[in-house]
Amino acid sequence: MSKVIVITGASGGIGAALAMQLGQQGHRLVLAARREKELNEVARRAAQAASAQTIAVTADVTRRADVDRVRDRALETFGQVDVWVNNAGRGIGRKVLDLTDEDLDEMMAVNVKSALYGMQAIAPHLMERGTGHIINISSFLSRVPFLSFRSAYSAAKAALNALTSNLRADLAESHPGIHVSLVLPGVVTTDFQRNALGGTPPPRPGAFATGVQSADEVAAVIVRLIENPVAEVYTNPAQAPIVLRYFQDVGAFERGQRGPGTAPAGPDRSQGPSSRRPE
Ligand code: NDP
Repeated sequence: MSKVIVITGASGGIGAALAMQLGQQGHRLVLAARREKELNEVARRAAQAASAQTIAVTADVTRRADVDRVRDRALETFGQVDVWVNNAGRGIGRKVLDLTDEDLDEMMAVNVKSALYGMQAIAPHLMERGTGHIINISSFLSRVPFLSFRSAYSAAKAALNALTSNLRADLAESHPGIHVSLVLPGVVTTDFQRNALGGTPPPRPGAFATGVQSADEVAAVIVRLIENPVAEVYTNPAQAPIVLRYFQDVGAFERGQRGPGTAPAGPDRSQGPSSRRPE
């Protein structure tokens, strides 16, 4: 059945791949991002896929009024929203001692407040209907913050995880027909590394690696999540055992990260070149 699905950060990367796959399934899409030309092109291609109805709304999701406008355009055009995907996000390339106030503010604005605005914009509509699905795109680094140059990004995504769990708990009691899900990708081949605030330092030899996924692979996981909602999903199956190992003994895990050739034993060891890092 055709759903109305809002995707933020749909002008490139994972959001664009998701739009293409959902368009091919005939869903009606509302795509949001700042770059108008790129966004319109994704909307055009997604609509072509299966004559899907698609609209593009230029928006900066760090502004609450823009996010509200995305919701309003969706409701004006389609009369309802079934799924809202808070996907827009951005990394950083600075360690804790180098962070400025502005760095931290930017990470919180684009990775946390954007999703908070999205959740608050659409939840009343979903609650009125008693059904719907909110999906927040987090990161493996929110659970295993072992890349210190991603410091404030990992922190922001960890905050997003907490807000997601709390909203899920609240709605599960009052509105059991509404699902709230968290998606945790690892390393994905998009422009993410290039777009990170302050750039991305060159990889350390022997760095931890979980294997690489394409934007299409991650999008396919999100499509399955929309069909079969669950609370959380790691897009790369190699990640869950690493998270368990991390929480079993954080100190031992961190010691395993130091120095070449000390990557911890586990499913990550055999997968992918050392230059591939989860984000
Ligand atoms: P990209 O940098 O390729 O794409 C980011 C998207 O977000 C773009 O469409 C960009 O569009 C949009 N965006 C950024 N800032 C804003 C803003 N202020 N307002 C509206 N849109 C914005 O990254 P990915 O596709 O890889 O990332 C998508 C999500 O996946 C992010 O939340 C990221 O943290 C997460 N993730 C990515 C991983 C990876 O390795 N790639 C790993 C783990 C998680 P525009 O510039 O046009 O606004």
